[in-house]
Amino acid sequence: MRFGFWPGPNNSWSDTLALAMHAETAGWHGIWYADHFMPNAEDTSGPTSECWTTLAALAVAVPRVRIGALATHARIARSPLAKQLPIVADCANGIADNQVRSRGTIGGSLASGDPSCDWPVLLTTLDAKLQAQGPGGVRELPVDGFVEDLYVTKLKPGELITGISFALPVKGSAGAYVGFKRCAPAYPTISVGVQLSLKGEQCESVRIALGSAGLTTIHARGAEAELKGKTLTPAVLARAAEAAVAECDPVDDQRGSIAFKQSIINALVKRGIETAKRRCQGETVEVSHEYY
Ligand SMILES: Cc1cc2nc3c(=O)[nH]c(=O)nc-3n(C[C@H](O)[C@H](O)[C@H](O)COP(=O)(O)OP(=O)(O)OC[C@H]3O[C@@H](n4cnc5c(N)ncnc54)[C@H](O)[C@@H]3O)c2cc1C
Repeated sequence: MRFGFWPGPNNSWSDTLALAMHAETAGWHGIWYADHFMPNAEDTSGPTSECWTTLAALAVAVPRVRIGALATHARIARSPLAKQLPIVADCANGIADNQVRSRGTIGGSLASGDPSCDWPVLLTTLDAKLQAQGPGGVRELPVDGFVEDLYVTKLKPGELITGISFALPVKGSAGAYVGFKRCAPAYPTISVGVQLSLKGEQCESVRIALGSAGLTTIHARGAEAELKGKTLTPAVLARAAEAAVAECDPVDDQRGSIAFKQSIINALVKRGIETAKRRCQGETVEVSHEYY
Protein backbone atom coordinates (compact mmCIF):
# COMPACT_ATOMS: atom_id res chain seq x y z
CA MET A 1 0.00 0.00 0.00
CA ARG A 2 1.29 3.46 -0.86
CA PHE A 3 0.04 6.48 1.03
CA GLY A 4 0.39 10.12 0.14
CA PHE A 5 0.81 13.37 1.95
CA TRP A 6 -0.36 14.87 5.17
CA PRO A 7 -1.13 18.50 4.41
CA GLY A 8 0.21 20.88 7.01
CA PRO A 9 -1.40 24.13 8.11
CA ASN A 10 0.06 26.01 5.14
CA ASN A 11 -1.34 23.82 2.40
CA SER A 12 -3.65 25.87 0.23
CA TRP A 13 -6.72 24.36 -1.39
CA SER A 14 -5.13 24.40 -4.83
CA ASP A 15 -2.01 22.64 -3.45
CA THR A 16 -4.23 20.06 -1.81
CA LEU A 17 -6.28 19.52 -4.94
CA ALA A 18 -3.16 19.26 -7.11
CA LEU A 19 -1.71 16.67 -4.74
CA ALA A 20 -4.97 14.75 -4.65
CA MET A 21 -4.94 14.58 -8.45
CA HIS A 22 -1.27 13.60 -8.43
CA ALA A 23 -2.14 10.83 -5.97
CA GLU A 24 -4.69 9.45 -8.38
CA THR A 25 -2.36 9.45 -11.40
CA ALA A 26 0.54 8.12 -9.29
CA GLY A 27 -1.65 5.21 -8.20
CA TRP A 28 -1.42 5.94 -4.47
CA HIS A 29 -3.72 3.80 -2.40
CA GLY A 30 -4.83 6.59 -0.20
CA ILE A 31 -4.18 10.07 1.03
CA TRP A 32 -3.78 10.49 4.74
CA TYR A 33 -5.29 13.81 5.46
CA ALA A 34 -8.39 13.31 7.54
CA ASP A 35 -7.51 15.28 10.68
CA HIS A 36 -6.30 18.31 8.82
CA PHE A 37 -8.96 18.15 6.21
CA MET A 38 -11.91 17.68 8.48
CA PRO A 39 -11.31 19.17 11.91
CA ASN A 40 -14.01 18.86 14.52
CA ALA A 41 -16.12 22.00 14.40
CA GLU A 42 -15.64 22.34 18.16
CA ASP A 43 -11.87 21.93 17.92
CA THR A 44 -10.17 25.32 17.83
CA SER A 45 -6.66 23.86 18.14
CA GLY A 46 -6.61 22.66 14.51
CA PRO A 47 -5.00 24.38 11.55
CA THR A 48 -6.36 27.65 10.30
CA SER A 49 -5.04 27.25 6.77
CA GLU A 50 -6.52 29.03 3.79
CA CYS A 51 -7.80 25.62 2.67
CA TRP A 52 -9.87 25.06 5.77
CA THR A 53 -11.05 28.65 6.12
CA THR A 54 -12.24 28.90 2.54
CA LEU A 55 -13.81 25.48 2.31
CA ALA A 56 -15.67 25.64 5.60
CA ALA A 57 -16.84 29.23 5.32
CA LEU A 58 -20.44 30.31 5.18
CA ALA A 59 -21.27 33.57 3.49
CA VAL A 60 -24.77 35.01 3.52
CA ALA A 61 -25.17 37.91 1.15
CA VAL A 62 -27.95 39.18 -1.03
CA PRO A 63 -28.70 37.64 -3.41
CA ARG A 64 -26.72 34.40 -2.87
CA VAL A 65 -25.62 32.21 0.02
CA ARG A 66 -22.37 30.25 -0.26
CA ILE A 67 -21.42 27.30 1.93
CA GLY A 68 -17.98 25.70 1.71
CA ALA A 69 -17.95 21.94 1.17
CA LEU A 70 -16.19 21.30 4.49
CA ALA A 71 -18.79 23.11 6.60
CA THR A 72 -20.02 20.60 9.16
CA HIS A 73 -23.71 20.05 9.90
CA ALA A 74 -23.16 21.47 13.41
CA ARG A 75 -21.46 24.59 12.11
CA ILE A 76 -24.34 25.24 9.69
CA ALA A 77 -26.89 24.61 12.49
CA ARG A 78 -25.22 27.29 14.63
CA SER A 79 -24.76 29.78 11.78
CA PRO A 80 -26.65 33.04 11.21
CA LEU A 81 -27.98 31.39 8.04
CA ALA A 82 -29.92 28.85 10.15
CA LYS A 83 -31.43 31.69 12.17
CA GLN A 84 -32.41 33.54 9.01
CA LEU A 85 -33.81 30.49 7.18
CA PRO A 86 -35.67 28.11 9.54
CA ILE A 87 -35.69 25.42 6.82
CA VAL A 88 -31.88 25.23 7.11
CA ALA A 89 -32.11 24.86 10.91
CA ASP A 90 -34.82 22.17 10.55
CA CYS A 91 -32.49 20.16 8.32
CA ALA A 92 -29.14 20.69 10.07
CA ASN A 93 -30.48 19.97 13.57
CA GLY A 94 -32.30 16.84 12.43
CA ILE A 95 -29.20 15.09 11.07
CA ALA A 96 -28.21 12.16 13.30
CA ASP A 97 -26.71 13.10 16.68
CA ASN A 98 -24.15 15.57 18.04
CA GLN A 99 -21.17 13.37 17.18
CA VAL A 100 -22.18 12.95 13.53
CA ARG A 101 -23.22 16.57 13.20
CA SER A 102 -19.87 17.86 14.41
CA ARG A 103 -17.86 15.68 11.97
CA GLY A 104 -20.04 15.17 8.87
CA THR A 105 -19.83 17.80 6.13
CA ILE A 106 -22.27 19.18 3.61
CA GLY A 107 -19.85 18.26 0.79
CA GLY A 108 -19.55 14.67 2.02
CA SER A 109 -23.32 14.41 2.33
CA LEU A 110 -23.71 15.37 -1.34
CA ALA A 111 -20.75 13.39 -2.67
CA SER A 112 -21.80 10.15 -1.01
CA GLY A 113 -24.82 9.99 -3.36
CA ASP A 114 -26.92 8.52 -0.57
CA PRO A 115 -30.68 9.06 -1.07
CA SER A 116 -31.14 9.08 2.72
CA CYS A 117 -28.85 12.07 3.31
CA ASP A 118 -30.69 15.24 4.25
CA TRP A 119 -28.64 17.99 2.54
CA PRO A 120 -29.31 16.85 -1.07
CA VAL A 121 -33.06 17.05 -0.31
CA LEU A 122 -32.83 20.47 1.31
CA LEU A 123 -30.57 21.82 -1.44
CA THR A 124 -32.85 20.48 -4.18
CA THR A 125 -35.73 22.24 -2.43
CA LEU A 126 -33.74 25.49 -2.48
CA ASP A 127 -32.67 24.97 -6.12
CA ALA A 128 -29.00 25.11 -5.11
CA LYS A 129 -25.94 24.76 -7.34
CA LEU A 130 -22.72 23.04 -6.40
CA GLN A 131 -19.24 24.02 -7.47
CA ALA A 132 -16.79 21.28 -8.42
CA GLN A 133 -13.08 21.51 -9.18
CA GLY A 134 -10.94 18.91 -10.89
CA PRO A 135 -8.46 18.23 -13.69
CA GLY A 136 -10.86 19.82 -16.21
CA GLY A 137 -11.16 23.04 -14.19
CA VAL A 138 -14.04 24.51 -12.26
CA ARG A 139 -17.70 23.90 -13.08
CA GLU A 140 -21.07 24.54 -11.53
CA LEU A 141 -23.99 22.13 -11.68
CA PRO A 142 -27.47 21.94 -10.16
CA VAL A 143 -27.89 19.80 -7.03
CA ASP A 144 -31.21 18.67 -8.58
CA GLY A 145 -30.18 15.60 -10.60
CA PHE A 146 -26.57 15.59 -9.28
CA VAL A 147 -27.13 12.07 -7.92
CA GLU A 148 -27.85 9.95 -10.98
CA ASP A 149 -28.39 6.60 -9.31
CA LEU A 150 -27.88 4.95 -5.92
CA TYR A 151 -24.46 6.26 -4.70
CA VAL A 152 -23.64 7.50 -8.24
CA THR A 153 -23.08 11.22 -8.76
CA LYS A 154 -22.18 13.43 -11.71
CA LEU A 155 -18.68 14.08 -10.30
CA LYS A 156 -15.96 13.22 -12.81
CA PRO A 157 -12.80 11.33 -11.80
CA GLY A 158 -10.52 13.58 -9.74
CA GLU A 159 -13.23 16.17 -9.09
CA LEU A 160 -14.06 17.48 -5.64
CA ILE A 161 -17.02 19.55 -4.49
CA THR A 162 -15.71 22.89 -3.24
CA GLY A 163 -18.95 24.62 -2.29
CA ILE A 164 -22.69 25.05 -2.61
CA SER A 165 -24.65 28.19 -3.36
CA PHE A 166 -28.28 29.20 -3.64
CA ALA A 167 -30.35 32.33 -3.98
CA LEU A 168 -31.59 33.72 -0.70
CA PRO A 169 -35.37 33.11 -0.78
CA VAL A 170 -37.32 36.29 -1.46
CA LYS A 171 -39.39 38.03 1.22
CA GLY A 172 -42.80 36.40 1.52
CA SER A 173 -41.35 32.97 0.77
CA ALA A 174 -40.74 30.36 3.48
CA GLY A 175 -39.88 26.71 3.78
CA ALA A 176 -39.92 23.72 6.08
CA TYR A 177 -37.91 20.51 6.31
CA VAL A 178 -39.54 17.58 8.07
CA GLY A 179 -38.32 14.04 8.63
CA PHE A 180 -39.43 10.83 10.28
CA LYS A 181 -36.88 8.40 11.70
CA ARG A 182 -36.42 5.57 14.20
CA CYS A 183 -33.92 7.36 16.46
CA ALA A 184 -31.38 10.19 16.34
CA PRO A 185 -28.35 8.25 14.96
CA ALA A 186 -30.46 6.63 12.21
CA TYR A 187 -30.95 8.07 8.75
CA PRO A 188 -34.50 9.31 8.09
CA THR A 189 -37.11 6.80 6.99
CA ILE A 190 -38.58 9.63 4.88
CA SER A 191 -37.75 13.35 4.69
CA VAL A 192 -39.49 16.20 2.86
CA GLY A 193 -38.42 19.74 1.99
CA VAL A 194 -40.95 22.39 0.94
CA GLN A 195 -40.26 26.00 -0.07
CA LEU A 196 -43.17 28.16 -1.19
CA SER A 197 -44.33 31.71 -1.66
CA LEU A 198 -47.89 33.02 -1.37
CA LYS A 199 -49.71 35.77 -3.21
CA GLY A 200 -52.62 36.49 -0.94
CA GLU A 201 -54.13 33.08 -0.28
CA GLN A 202 -52.72 31.53 -3.46
CA CYS A 203 -49.54 29.53 -3.87
CA GLU A 204 -47.38 31.57 -6.23
CA SER A 205 -44.33 29.28 -6.38
CA VAL A 206 -43.33 26.02 -4.73
CA ARG A 207 -40.55 23.45 -4.71
CA ILE A 208 -40.81 20.06 -3.03
CA ALA A 209 -38.13 17.38 -2.67
CA LEU A 210 -38.13 14.03 -0.88
CA GLY A 211 -35.39 11.89 0.64
CA SER A 212 -35.23 8.13 1.34
CA ALA A 213 -38.19 7.83 -1.04
CA GLY A 214 -36.36 6.21 -3.98
CA LEU A 215 -32.83 5.52 -5.21
CA THR A 216 -32.07 9.25 -5.55
CA THR A 217 -33.48 12.49 -4.17
CA ILE A 218 -36.93 12.99 -5.70
CA HIS A 219 -37.96 16.40 -7.02
CA ALA A 220 -41.76 16.13 -6.71
CA ARG A 221 -42.85 18.16 -9.74
CA GLY A 222 -46.28 16.51 -9.84
CA ALA A 223 -46.99 17.60 -6.27
CA GLU A 224 -45.82 21.13 -7.11
CA ALA A 225 -48.22 21.25 -10.08
CA GLU A 226 -51.13 20.43 -7.74
CA LEU A 227 -50.31 23.50 -5.63
CA LYS A 228 -49.25 26.24 -8.06
CA GLY A 229 -51.84 29.00 -8.44
CA LYS A 230 -54.20 27.35 -5.94
CA THR A 231 -55.47 28.22 -2.48
CA LEU A 232 -53.90 25.77 -0.05
CA THR A 233 -57.04 24.07 1.23
CA PRO A 234 -56.96 20.61 2.87
CA ALA A 235 -58.30 19.09 -0.37
CA VAL A 236 -55.51 20.68 -2.45
CA LEU A 237 -52.89 19.51 0.07
CA ALA A 238 -54.33 15.99 -0.07
CA ARG A 239 -54.02 15.95 -3.89
CA ALA A 240 -50.42 17.21 -3.69
CA ALA A 241 -49.56 14.52 -1.13
CA GLU A 242 -51.09 11.81 -3.34
CA ALA A 243 -49.13 13.12 -6.33
CA ALA A 244 -45.89 12.99 -4.28
CA VAL A 245 -46.60 9.39 -3.29
CA ALA A 246 -47.10 8.52 -6.97
CA GLU A 247 -43.72 10.08 -7.88
CA CYS A 248 -41.78 8.12 -5.25
CA ASP A 249 -40.37 4.64 -5.39
CA PRO A 250 -39.49 3.67 -1.79
CA VAL A 251 -37.88 0.33 -1.07
CA ASP A 252 -38.99 -2.29 1.45
CA ASP A 253 -36.20 -2.45 4.05
CA GLN A 254 -35.41 -2.47 7.79
CA ARG A 255 -36.94 1.00 8.13
CA GLY A 256 -40.36 -0.11 6.94
CA SER A 257 -42.51 -1.58 4.20
CA ILE A 258 -43.35 0.28 0.98
CA ALA A 259 -46.94 0.89 2.17
CA PHE A 260 -45.68 2.26 5.51
CA LYS A 261 -43.29 4.64 3.74
CA GLN A 262 -46.00 5.78 1.33
CA SER A 263 -48.23 6.69 4.28
CA ILE A 264 -45.33 8.66 5.83
CA ILE A 265 -44.69 10.49 2.55
CA ASN A 266 -48.37 11.42 2.40
CA ALA A 267 -48.38 12.78 5.97
CA LEU A 268 -45.02 14.58 5.74
CA VAL A 269 -45.79 16.34 2.46
CA LYS A 270 -48.94 17.80 4.02
CA ARG A 271 -47.07 18.74 7.21
CA GLY A 272 -44.26 20.37 5.22
CA ILE A 273 -46.68 22.44 3.13
CA GLU A 274 -48.73 23.49 6.17
CA THR A 275 -45.62 24.52 8.09
CA ALA A 276 -44.16 26.46 5.15
CA LYS A 277 -47.52 28.19 4.65
CA ARG A 278 -47.73 29.23 8.33
CA ARG A 279 -44.17 30.52 8.23
CA CYS A 280 -45.01 32.46 5.05
CA GLN A 281 -47.81 34.08 7.01
CA GLY A 282 -45.34 35.18 9.70
CA GLU A 283 -45.83 32.45 12.33
CA THR A 284 -42.87 30.95 14.17
CA VAL A 285 -43.22 27.18 13.87
CA GLU A 286 -40.68 24.70 15.25
CA VAL A 287 -40.28 21.45 13.29
CA SER A 288 -37.57 18.88 12.78
CA HIS A 289 -37.24 15.14 12.46
CA GLU A 290 -39.70 13.13 14.53
CA TYR A 291 -38.94 9.71 15.99
CA TYR A 292 -41.13 6.60 16.15
C1 LIG B 1 -24.41 6.87 12.45
C2 LIG B 1 -24.63 7.83 11.31
C3 LIG B 1 -25.86 8.45 11.18
C4 LIG B 1 -26.09 9.34 10.15
N1 LIG B 1 -27.31 9.91 10.03
C5 LIG B 1 -27.53 10.83 9.07
C6 LIG B 1 -28.77 11.50 8.95
O1 LIG B 1 -29.70 11.31 9.72
N2 LIG B 1 -28.91 12.39 7.93
C7 LIG B 1 -27.89 12.66 7.05
O2 LIG B 1 -28.04 13.49 6.17
N3 LIG B 1 -26.70 12.05 7.16
C8 LIG B 1 -26.50 11.16 8.13
N4 LIG B 1 -25.27 10.55 8.22
C9 LIG B 1 -24.24 10.90 7.23
C10 LIG B 1 -23.29 11.96 7.77
O3 LIG B 1 -24.03 13.09 8.20
C11 LIG B 1 -22.27 12.43 6.72
O4 LIG B 1 -22.83 13.36 5.85
C12 LIG B 1 -21.74 11.33 5.88
O5 LIG B 1 -21.34 10.27 6.72
C13 LIG B 1 -20.56 11.86 5.06
O6 LIG B 1 -19.55 12.13 5.99
P1 LIG B 1 -18.36 13.12 5.68
O7 LIG B 1 -18.87 14.47 5.39
O8 LIG B 1 -17.40 12.93 6.81
O9 LIG B 1 -17.78 12.57 4.33
P2 LIG B 1 -16.79 11.33 4.11
O10 LIG B 1 -17.27 10.14 4.88
O11 LIG B 1 -15.40 11.77 4.33
O12 LIG B 1 -17.00 11.13 2.55
C14 LIG B 1 -18.10 10.45 2.01
C15 LIG B 1 -17.76 10.20 0.54
O13 LIG B 1 -17.79 11.43 -0.18
C16 LIG B 1 -16.47 11.75 -0.68
N5 LIG B 1 -16.29 13.18 -0.40
C17 LIG B 1 -16.32 13.80 0.81
N6 LIG B 1 -16.20 15.14 0.64
C18 LIG B 1 -16.10 15.36 -0.70
C19 LIG B 1 -15.96 16.52 -1.51
N7 LIG B 1 -15.91 17.76 -0.98
N8 LIG B 1 -15.88 16.37 -2.86
C20 LIG B 1 -15.92 15.14 -3.41
N9 LIG B 1 -16.04 14.00 -2.70
C21 LIG B 1 -16.13 14.10 -1.37
C22 LIG B 1 -15.49 10.84 0.06
O14 LIG B 1 -14.38 10.56 -0.73
C23 LIG B 1 -16.36 9.62 0.31
O15 LIG B 1 -16.43 8.80 -0.84
C24 LIG B 1 -25.04 9.64 9.24
C25 LIG B 1 -23.79 9.03 9.38
C26 LIG B 1 -23.57 8.15 10.40
C27 LIG B 1 -22.21 7.52 10.53
